[in-house]
Amino acid sequence: NYPLSDRVNAIQPSPTLAVSQKAAELKAAGHDVIGLGVGEPDFDTPEFIKTAAKAAIDAGHTKYTAVDGIPQLKQAVINKFKRDNGLTYEPSEILISAGGKHSIFNLLSAWLNPGDEVLIPAPYWVSYPDMSLLVGAVPKVIHAGIEQRYKITAEQLAAAITPNTRLLFINSPSNPTGTAYSKAELESLAAVLREHPQVLIATDDMYEHILWSDEPFYNIAMVAPDLRDRIVILSGVSKAYAMTGWRIGYAAGPKPLIAAMKKMQSQSTSNPTSISQWAALAALEGDQSIIQTMVAEFKQRHDYLVDALNQIPGMKCIAGDGTFYTFANIDALMAAKGASSDVELCEMILNEAKVALVPGTAFGAPGHCRFSFACSLATLQEAVRRIKAFAEA
Ligand code: PLP
Repeated sequence: NYPLSDRVNAIQPSPTLAVSQKAAELKAAGHDVIGLGVGEPDFDTPEFIKTAAKAAIDAGHTKYTAVDGIPQLKQAVINKFKRDNGLTYEPSEILISAGGKHSIFNLLSAWLNPGDEVLIPAPYWVSYPDMSLLVGAVPKVIHAGIEQRYKITAEQLAAAITPNTRLLFINSPSNPTGTAYSKAELESLAAVLREHPQVLIATDDMYEHILWSDEPFYNIAMVAPDLRDRIVILSGVSKAYAMTGWRIGYAAGPKPLIAAMKKMQSQSTSNPTSISQWAALAALEGDQSIIQTMVAEFKQRHDYLVDALNQIPGMKCIAGDGTFYTFANIDALMAAKGASSDVELCEMILNEAKVALVPGTAFGAPGHCRFSFACSLATLQEAVRRIKAFAEA
């Protein structure tokens, strides 16, 4: 009963970090725990990116920069949108922040008033609801099950929009499911959104490059150029370039919105780390084939894991389109083990099989668990062996 703010009391700590902590505690106590809870690539940041950071230090790029990022990095982001997405932006429509999460926080702070509704398709990335609550907004979850590949339909979207809806999140490819919206699916969502001009669309493209579907990557800005003034693209270098610790994310959107987000940033963090900005510049402008090397590895692990999990009694999962996660339905395994929830089953798996997973409840999808395959194939094989033994016991 320490007298903290209502704001902070309204939210929960990140549940994915909580799992990592529990696994770390067991490890520290001498247990051989396999952590499949993490949300970061196991690869090291590519050498040329590290070299650019060292050069930035030596060149004295160690002072404040412009709040919204160095012009060179903003230009690299503009070039990236042109190159990868065929989208044209001006520097005043780009904001560099301290990670993708920070971009989202700036957006919610600058756009939402207390009581505004935020549409969040579930399974969702853990932070969307809590970050919405933090600014006094009301998260409204739209559920999408395995039978619809965890993606919402245009009908569901239309039914969920009210006059108070101010924002819709789209995350494709998705953390935690790995599935991506097709061009046609995005077009059908856009058709609904056209009728509701009060709704801003946030497309979280963090996993854009970690994709192996037949169709190339699309976001809603690419399929509905007429909605440009109502779309903000959120992305960053964390996942594609194995740069989670560097903390660089970016947003592209309408000028007045980006200016407001910049104002938020100017009164909170100021510029993101100068050195990291130079590193991110090297990442975006450098040899992009490094991404494909990592993606090939992720795809191989994905194929193994999805197949192996489907052979475990009580588990069911579908092939994803990308990311380094797969989301398994565990309803039958819960029933077989007498677990009352996915949280309880994940605890049993951690304690008995010594494998750390994140329960689906954390993503708004009870009856599931998320496997991260940001680890070696050998580690995955051992994790599967342990969980299979647990399930068959
Ligand atoms: N968006 C999604 C969907 C994510 O999975 C993550 C990280 O887990 C982020 C945004 C935030 O990325 P960053 O580490 O750059 O803050």
